[in-house]
Amino acid sequence: MKKHIFSCLTLAMVISSSALFAQTKAIAHRGVWKNSHLPQNSIASLTAAHDLKLFGSEFDVHLTKDNILVVNHDNDFYGIDIATATYKELLEKKHPNGESIPTLEEYLHAGKKLKGLRLILELKTNKLGLERTLEATTKTVEMVKKLKAEKVTDYISFSFEACQKIHEMAPKANIQYLTGDKSPAEVKAAGINGLDYHFSVFKKNGTWLKDAHQLGMKVNAWTVNTAEEMTNLINQNIDFITTDEPEMLLRVLKK
Ligand code: MG
Repeated sequence: MKKHIFSCLTLAMVISSSALFAQTKAIAHRGVWKNSHLPQNSIASLTAAHDLKLFGSEFDVHLTKDNILVVNHDNDFYGIDIATATYKELLEKKHPNGESIPTLEEYLHAGKKLKGLRLILELKTNKLGLERTLEATTKTVEMVKKLKAEKVTDYISFSFEACQKIHEMAPKANIQYLTGDKSPAEVKAAGINGLDYHFSVFKKNGTWLKDAHQLGMKVNAWTVNTAEEMTNLINQNIDFITTDEPEMLLRVLKK
């Protein structure tokens, strides 16, 4: 009888600890900006993600004309087109909080100091073409390695070629493909070990989340901004949720 109680207890512990490990993790989309009124992709919004004790903070990386990697969402920084401008030209504008456009080097440097926060690096497609996107990819992976930020950085991209290039250069890196046009098996076959699709893609393709897990892949969903959609994905044991509403996600996860 004692033995039976002991094995039941052990089983309960195993179940509860695996449930603990399986809990969905919260990622701020472009940093924490919406409720904090900070500029998206600013270092202040990255720091705010750490202050909220989130799992990670996502940000977007572009390459300037003179080969400087910078962090911004749009292709332009307050009207200055990044791909065809020099870094010096970008310094003519500032975020409303007084920050200049961060370089990737500055961003990683700041992020590394924020212990426990994962840096979710989105490599942007360059409007000048695939060759330029792949140059940006190479320089980005080299920068992450130079700053010894490999252990805290995960990569995402809408460019399948960029994801493959990252895998080639950093075989141990976590990489998630963003576009949502390929099945988990197709993505895995290319050496990419994760998916980060818009949540509607998982609704349209009802088995993909489960299929990806069965293939040993990690799964993320982007811009999940309502409690209903968050709950729906958490109930399917999604690994990560990327949201503009991290405070809401933390409340939903606590329930
Ligand atoms: Mg992004």
